[in-house]
Amino acid sequence: MPGFELFGDKERAQVQDVLDSGVLMRYGFEGMRNDHWKAKELEVALAKKMRSSHVHLVSSGTAALTVALASAGIGAGDEVIMPTFTFVASFESILALGAIPILVDVDDTLTLDPKAVEKAITPKTKVVMPVHMCGSMANLDALQTICDQHGLLLLEDACQAIGATYHGKPLGSIGNLGCFSFDYVKTITCGEGGAILTNNETYYQNAHKYSDHGHDHIGNDRGAEAHPFLGYNYRISELNAAVGLAQLSRLDEFIDIQKKNYILLREALSKIDGVQFRTVPEGGEENYSFLSFFLPTEALALQAQKALGDAGVDGCFYWYNNNWHYYRKWEHLTHKKSLGKLPKDVLEALPDYEKADFSSSDHWVGRNISCLIKLGWTADDVKQRAQTMSDELQKIL
Ligand SMILES: *Cc1c(COP(=O)(O)O)cnc(C)c1O
Repeated sequence: MPGFELFGDKERAQVQDVLDSGVLMRYGFEGMRNDHWKAKELEVALAKKMRSSHVHLVSSGTAALTVALASAGIGAGDEVIMPTFTFVASFESILALGAIPILVDVDDTLTLDPKAVEKAITPKTKVVMPVHMCGSMANLDALQTICDQHGLLLLEDACQAIGATYHGKPLGSIGNLGCFSFDYVKTITCGEGGAILTNNETYYQNAHKYSDHGHDHIGNDRGAEAHPFLGYNYRISELNAAVGLAQLSRLDEFIDIQKKNYILLREALSKIDGVQFRTVPEGGEENYSFLSFFLPTEALALQAQKALGDAGVDGCFYWYNNNWHYYRKWEHLTHKKSLGKLPKDVLEALPDYEKADFSSSDHWVGRNISCLIKLGWTADDVKQRAQTMSDELQKIL
């Protein structure tokens, strides 16, 4: 999946432009910058590609989530529904605003289970945040219906799913707000970077100001007029945006390679009894960054992961035991470990996750293996991999 695998002349040329002018900042310095506005250019290109009215770039995917929530006025005490299977950034971004992360089960899509979402709604719920993990998506029609019924915002964390679509629409452009990450291991990379997508003019204007200290951005000298509200610095640099411009121009190429490799591996594994592929909601098209499947039991999944690793098949993850991606290992959250004191309201409102019942998530994630699809594989590499994976899984099943 990672864009860093195919990195070259296009990226170099874009970065050289920035170095030649010496202006590494996305705002100001008109006289010096040789008319290079890499961040602005990438925002326009992304908005066009994702068919979204507005895109605002920030310094990371985590920042994008925080800024997206802030732009819609989410703050202290508001509840945000998020899945048990995601990256730690989900609850970090919520807690950063004093809001409360409400963990909810995932289903066979490996993303939010709409039935579990419905049960978790309280008068304090403000946002439903599906996370399109490993290149595929949540059932967005079902989640949108729930959001409409309860007056909630839908915020898509599409950090791992750029290039995937749902009923023909790009993921990230479907909810009230959507976020991408361009960190070093994502499908396309800026080194570090993130983006907020929205069709809502107010959220966009808020995100713009909030991510630059609350400066009003009126006129040439930004912030000269006023500070309409408190903000923070989540700016992206021109160097990062320049890399992103080159990478975005190659997104379709990357997805095509992933799809080709994914299909070959999937064909091989589909012949094996006992391998069940992850469910992709109707109308969904993955970005093919991972091939995710379930084995009949947790013990078999563990055995399979070990066998694949021993046989030299790298990049197959058993997320159930992973420190970053599944609630079972989020000890810092469940034990409320914070450097400074957490706000009293947050401490009181955080559910007791040590006692929570996520057996339904365990049922799916405990039997799941997700294998990374690489861009750099040769045809022979893929063939060999398909053969080894089939052999190893067949031995176990
Ligand atoms: C990577 C990732 C993020 C955070 O992105 P960063 O750019 O690394 O901060 C958020 N959510 C998901 C699902 C991710 O995979």
